[in-house]
This record gives sequence, C-alpha cells and structure tokens, in this order.
Amino acid sequence: MRELKGLTVANDMTEKTLQRVQELEARGITPMLATVRVGANPGDIAYENGLLERAEKNGIDSEQIVLPENITQEDLLAEIDKLNQDPGVDGVLIFRPLPKQIDEEAVCRALDPKKDVDGITPGSMAGVFMGSEKGFPPCTAAACIQMLDYYGIDLNGKNVTVFGRSLVVGKPVAMMAMDRNATVTICHSRTTPEMLRDAGRKADVVIAAVGRADFLTRDLTGEDQIILDVGINDDGAGGICGDVDQEAASAAAAVTPVPGGVGSVTTAILMDHVVTAAARSALQKK
Ligand code: NAP
Repeated sequence: MRELKGLTVANDMTEKTLQRVQELEARGITPMLATVRVGANPGDIAYENGLLERAEKNGIDSEQIVLPENITQEDLLAEIDKLNQDPGVDGVLIFRPLPKQIDEEAVCRALDPKKDVDGITPGSMAGVFMGSEKGFPPCTAAACIQMLDYYGIDLNGKNVTVFGRSLVVGKPVAMMAMDRNATVTICHSRTTPEMLRDAGRKADVVIAAVGRADFLTRDLTGEDQIILDVGINDDGAGGICGDVDQEAASAAAAVTPVPGGVGSVTTAILMDHVVTAAARSALQKK
C-alpha cells in the first residue's frame, strides 16, 4: 500500500502560493486574511494560531478579530458587513460552530462570496455546483481533489464513492469529482448495509468523510483502490485517527494517512484561496 502524504502536497502548494504572492507584491498588493473568532474555544484558538503562522510564512497579511461569546446576532452581522466593505480584506474565515444565540446560516449568508475563502456561503456552494468561480469550494473538499491531482490520479471515467454527505466535505467533493467526469455514488447514514458494501466495493476511488474511527472496514472496500481518508477521530490514546480501518488501508493501492494526509493540505488550500481572492479583487479594480 502506497501512502499519499499530505505534507508533500502542502509544501508544493506553499511554493506556488509564495510565487503568486511575490507577483502580487510586485504590483503593490499584499493579500490579507481576516479571521473572526467568537469566544475562546481552545480548538478555535489552536486552529487560529496555526492559520496566522501559516499566513505569515506565505507572505499573507492577517487580522485577528476576536468577539465576546455573548455577542448579539446584530453586532456579529455588523462585523461581517464591515469586513465585506473593507477593500483591504481579501478573505474572511469565521470559526464555527458559533454560540447558540447566533443564527449560523444567516451569518454564512451575510458574508460576501468574493471573500468566502472557506466556502461557507450559498454563493460559494452555487459555484461548486455550477462549476463556476463565483466563490470558493470548502477547503477540505478542495484538498481531496488537490491530492488526487498532485499524485496524478485522473478521475475521468472512474467510479468514485463518497461516504458522507455534509456541506463541508461529502456533497462538495462529490460535485467536484463529477466535474472531473467521475461517476459518483454518495452514501450516508440511511444507506442500507448492502448498498454501502456495493458502493464501496465497486469504487476506483473511495472518499471516507464520516467521522467514525474504523468506519471503512475491509468488507466495504474492493481491490486496487485509492482511498482518501478525511476523518479526524479520537484514537482513544491521546492522538487522532481516520475513518479507515487498518485492514482496509493495507489492502488499498494507495491511502492518505491520518494524521499527515488530507488535513495537512486543507490550510494550504485556504492560503491559496486568499491569494486568489486578492488576485480577483485586483482584476476587478482595474
Ligand atoms: P458530519 O457533518 O458529521 O457528516 C458526517 C456524514 O457521515 C453525514 O453525512 C452522515 O450521514 C454520514 N454518516 C454518519 N454515519 C454513517 C454511517 N454509519 N454510514 C454512512 N454514512 C454515515 O461530518 P463532516 O463535517 O463532513 O466531517 C467528516 C469527518 O471529516 C469528521 O471526522 C471531521 O472531523 C473530518 N474533517 C476533516 C477535515 C480535514 O481537514 N481533514 C475537515 C473537515 C472535517 P447523514 O447525513 O445521514 O447524517
């Protein structure tokens, strides 16, 4: 079994991102990412620190917006509007889930799709479905496709089975695979065990995005498959593991490890989106 390492893909992307940033810098443009955090969730803070560090390494400016846990819907929407109007901000990332008093969907809807580098707005989703460049695809879905591209895995005419149908991973990655001429099956919690087996076994490429350790067992997989393991689960020993069990992983032709697989590429995609947002905005100002 071949391991499709994410770090190699992320490093390659970072090199290209740095080059694009330099080209923009030469025209007096520095891409800027704004992060919006409500409250002080330790997971959000850890992710935020990682993002800001990564932005700096990529030559991207960043602004950290931290709002009180008890912020009202109105005040949060006003903050989003400010960022929408600010010509200096190219991309906005809002940490979610948001506190209970906030209507998260309304917040997602309020963000300008042009700045939606994390792919959370209906405008971005429409772009994924229409194959247009209106907003940006969700970073994890884009990371899956990026990994396949990097490792030269062509989806044209292939059977792709996606386990999971969330808006963050399953649905968008299925659309993106179909856009590359794959025939796609999407499975979810209501798919019958027989259908899960059939869909898993017939696939050339399996994308597991369920969020359950050892979900993808050997009886759900076929021969000579490429498996992208998107899951991030508690391994019960202080670490993380994916959705794919050891036996299924060993039998695959290639598999992305967890940690060190798709997750490592996700942040590189976000940086790429910020630079693209800055380039698109510069083009519009011309
Ligand atoms: P989610 O919103 O909880 O969606 C999970 C999906 O799995 C749902 O569509 C659900 O079906 C389906 N599912 C649950 N049990 C199933 C079963 N027994 N058989 C078939 N399908 C089943 O999770 P998510 O946000 O998509 O994330 C999925 C995993 O990816 C999580 O482990 C998450 O931590 C990880 N993740 C990783 C990254 C990264 O950068 N690598 C980023 C985001 C998420 P229903 O729709 O019917 O409920």
